[in-house]
Amino acid sequence: MALEEYRKKRDFTKSPEPAGTVVKKKRPELFFCVQKHLASHLHYDFRLEHNGVLLSWAVPKGPSLNPKDKRLAMHVEDHPFDYGEFEGVIPEGYGAGIVMLWDRGTWTPEVDDVDAALKKGDLKFTLNGYKLKGSWVLVRTSGRYGGGSDKRTGSPGSNGGRSWLLIKHRDEWSGDLDIAEFAPKSVKSDGEFEDILAEDTPAVWVSNRPAKGGEAGAMLATIIERAAKLKNSKDTKGTKDTKDTKGTKDTKGTKDTKTKKATKRKVASKQRRERTSERR
Ligand code: MN
Repeated sequence: MALEEYRKKRDFTKSPEPAGTVVKKKRPELFFCVQKHLASHLHYDFRLEHNGVLLSWAVPKGPSLNPKDKRLAMHVEDHPFDYGEFEGVIPEGYGAGIVMLWDRGTWTPEVDDVDAALKKGDLKFTLNGYKLKGSWVLVRTSGRYGGGSDKRTGSPGSNGGRSWLLIKHRDEWSGDLDIAEFAPKSVKSDGEFEDILAEDTPAVWVSNRPAKGGEAGAMLATIIERAAKLKNSKDTKGTKDTKDTKGTKDTKGTKDTKTKKATKRKVASKQRRERTSERR
């Protein structure tokens, strides 16, 4: 039932996205992820596991570590739990574009009753991801961004009460760092959008691109071009023998882990520096 809207929007014969099931098993830790999604517009899909599905918000500007930034987060349909690891190309239909697993980890509610907090429109929680950590809040707005819920009845307003704000609380993990720019790559493949597209088929949108105009369209055009180049160079490399390929793979794995660790260290030390300078 919870995934009805999700399924209604998609044709799974044409999309590689999981059709999904509601996970029944009680899990010791709750999953969260952020998927960077270049579709008709670039946005970041923020997802929190709750009752076997992923509660989802589309954040156009992405999360910010600066508590002064209040990032608009549009509440969208629940996604299946197994969507959380998805990274790849949606060739056509709803959400057509490229999905990158930008961050993942676990989350802990800072309230006893998540459903009550959601109904109230004020959910405080702690994240433990690669890029996003510490205390955050999602607050539903009323009026200011064109809607919100009816305070008297609690029923959705003109935009279905879908406008929320994602805000970082001030703590050891906050800071004036543009995390989307500082750590733009995938936590799953360590790739950029063009790498994800190159793994798939860069030619997929030659005739009918998901975003033709505007910023997203220009970005996509560049990515398609870069992906095609990457694919060409990969095809040339593909002629090497298997032993060589295996060796390359192993080295790459080590490098990915190192890069991830280095990014974590960099984020931490940058945040430490900023905290020190704030105290001065
Ligand atoms: Mn999306």
